[in-house]
Amino acid sequence: MQFETRAIHEGQQPDPQTGAVIVPIYLTSTYQQEAIGQHKGYEYSRTGNPTRNALEQSLASIENGKFGLAFASGLAATTTVLSLLKTGDHIVAGDDLYGGTYRLLEKVVNNWGVKTTYIDIDNIPEFETAIQPNTKLIWIETPTNPLLKIIDIVSLANLARKNNIILVVDNTFASPYFQKPLELGADIVVHSTTKYLGGHSDVIGGAVVTSNEQLYTELKFYQNAIGAVPSPFDSWLVLRGIKTLAVRMREHEKNALFLAEFLAKHPKVEKIYYPGLPSHEQHQLAKEQMSGFGGMISLELKGGFAEVERFASRIQLFLLAESLGGVESLLCYPAKMTHGSLPPTERLKRGIKDNLVRLSVGIEHSLDLQADLENALS
Ligand SMILES: *Cc1c(COP(=O)(O)O)cnc(C)c1O
Repeated sequence: MQFETRAIHEGQQPDPQTGAVIVPIYLTSTYQQEAIGQHKGYEYSRTGNPTRNALEQSLASIENGKFGLAFASGLAATTTVLSLLKTGDHIVAGDDLYGGTYRLLEKVVNNWGVKTTYIDIDNIPEFETAIQPNTKLIWIETPTNPLLKIIDIVSLANLARKNNIILVVDNTFASPYFQKPLELGADIVVHSTTKYLGGHSDVIGGAVVTSNEQLYTELKFYQNAIGAVPSPFDSWLVLRGIKTLAVRMREHEKNALFLAEFLAKHPKVEKIYYPGLPSHEQHQLAKEQMSGFGGMISLELKGGFAEVERFASRIQLFLLAESLGGVESLLCYPAKMTHGSLPPTERLKRGIKDNLVRLSVGIEHSLDLQADLENALS
């Protein structure tokens, strides 16, 4: 079955007891056992819950994976994956990462005695050089946040396989509608379902998908042992969001491409980052490994922070807010918002300048969004 059909039906058969078309929100913490040790597959809702279970089947299906796990946030999913590591293990990560992932690696995982080496993602051979005998995991995002660089997943997957290393891809920015890292050779996919999968800026959630049964068994153990699971209601919201993922992503992309072309020609714009533009450095690679370019645009304004401040104060439809992937358009200033947890030297080294603005293009009418940008820029 095709993506759109699976997104609506997989894991979501009508309720056998009542015929309810929509999976109910099972607000229960525990389940009656028929006899000691005899139950219907559920014992306690941290371990398993039917609403979450439906979401987990749906997540696996839309990533073309075998096993899905749902979490209370993207960072909860990330923490659970990183629990696969033990003291003395080593991580190689791309250097253009979600700020919270960087903070987790440096301020938390580092204290477990697990060190991370960050690699300029434009340089795949450097990933190979960074591998040590104790390297257990490679962690990347693509497209990256906020510079929207594209990393060659197939090359990294080959490198990881050759060295018996787990390759994790945070697929939040592309969404499974536009990119399927497991098919390109990644071992684990991570999502902040807060973003495109939820799609309506009303829930915090995370996901992990894999086709490797051994990894799944370990991750399922850690999901229960650590306990960072989503509530049944949150699971239900993400499940509902996934049903319209395909139509939303097509609109996000259509609007983003239209606005990127407009902004690229605008005299107040110094530089634009959108993988769907032929001028993007890795446009060809993006075309090969993604089936679309997504709804995120970053741009550098002519000038510095003062120009950004003026722009942000004049814009109206684009709401000044962190996060992304909702139906409404958002504007974010990475240097102080999403990447505020990076020390300024680290931030500048990664190319996140003081005049950089990130747009999450929503699914409002493209002409209204264009008028809003034009008005704020002029
Ligand atoms: C938001 C985000 C996260 C963290 O997810 P939360 O749901 O906020 O915990 C991780 N990776 C990327 C790329 C994100 O955008």
